[in-house]
Order: sequence, then C-alpha cells, then structure tokens
Amino acid sequence: MTDNDGFAKLSRDKDMEKKEKLYTLWGDNKINEEEMRLLQQKTKDIPAPFDAAGKKDIKTLVEAFLKKDDALGLAAPQIGISKRVTVFKNKNFDNGEPVTNKRDYDVLVNPRITQFRGETEIMMEGCLSCPDINVEVERYTEIKVRAYDREGQKISKRYTGFLARVVQHEVDHLDGKLITDRGSRVQYPKEKEAFFNSIFQRGS
Ligand SMILES: [Zn+2]
Repeated sequence: MTDNDGFAKLSRDKDMEKKEKLYTLWGDNKINEEEMRLLQQKTKDIPAPFDAAGKKDIKTLVEAFLKKDDALGLAAPQIGISKRVTVFKNKNFDNGEPVTNKRDYDVLVNPRITQFRGETEIMMEGCLSCPDINVEVERYTEIKVRAYDREGQKISKRYTGFLARVVQHEVDHLDGKLITDRGSRVQYPKEKEAFFNSIFQRGS
C-alpha cells in the first residue's frame, strides 16, 4: 500500500537507480504479463521452523521494505517471491518517514486472518504494484490474525482501524488478490484514460 501517488512515483524513480525490481501489473501503457501472473498467484507457506531459504526470503523482503520510504507495506510477491510473508508499518502512516526502528513495523509469516469483526469502511487505496491508480475498497475495521513472527514464534494479533486495512491489503497480495480485484470505483489520471479504459473494460 502507498501513502499517495506522488510518493509512489518518486520511489519508482529511485528504485530504478538502485536497480531494485518491483513487480507491477503494468508499465508504460502496457500490461506486464509475466509479473501479473506472479502477482495473481497464491503464495506458498514458508516451512516452519524456518529453513535457510525461508529465512533468506524474509530477510530480502524486510530489506526491500526498509529501503522504500513511501511503502506502508510490502508483500513478497511484489518483489517476485511467491511466499507467504509480508512486512508493514504499524504506526506513523501519515508522515512518510522511513522506518528505522524494529518496533515500528510488523513482519507476518504465513499469516491467516481468523476473524473479521466490526464495521466495514470504504476508502481509496493505492498499491505500488498498480501504478497510477487508486481504487475504492471496502475493508473490515477489526481483524484477528494468526502468523509467525520474524523469529519463527507463533503469534496472534488483533488489528484495528487503518492498520486493519493495511493488513487486509497485504494478506490479499499473499492470496494473489490486488485492489483491482476488490474495488468497484477506480481512479486514474486523465492522460492515461485510453490505456486504463482498455484494461478495465477487458477485465469486466
Ligand atoms: Zn499493494
């Protein structure tokens, strides 16, 4: 999830400098077929206790996330790893400041949402893997999650409010779902209307 379009754009430019690969559904007026296939695939659990490959995937994802000061969260498929792991900010959503402290983000390995509670809320969401668009998505305001933490300990957590939204967005990525599968109303810039019209008509 992103905080806003401007930041997402800035970050993509910086990413190119760093030669980091971020998987996206489309690029400049064309669909990225291969990346789309991976992003839309359901991920595999990391075996617990974690093996060397699992630990490496977790580390790679966390490091990629820490380099992205605009990302509220990042899921493994977004960097081309089809494994069930995600990392996201757990506070300071609005200030766009880079995350440095371990306490300021959560790592969830093999997360499962076990309960959806409370009300639902509709809000616009952006996603680094869906450049240039925002989609109106309905989410629950309270969820419970079972997962492993970064060290491989079983954890059970409750998330509320905006953070519950972030976690639902990230867990969706692990199930191969993107905001384009969730939302009804899509916003995109006027100059890219022809391209996005063709996509969203094709999909429906
Ligand atoms: Zn996303």
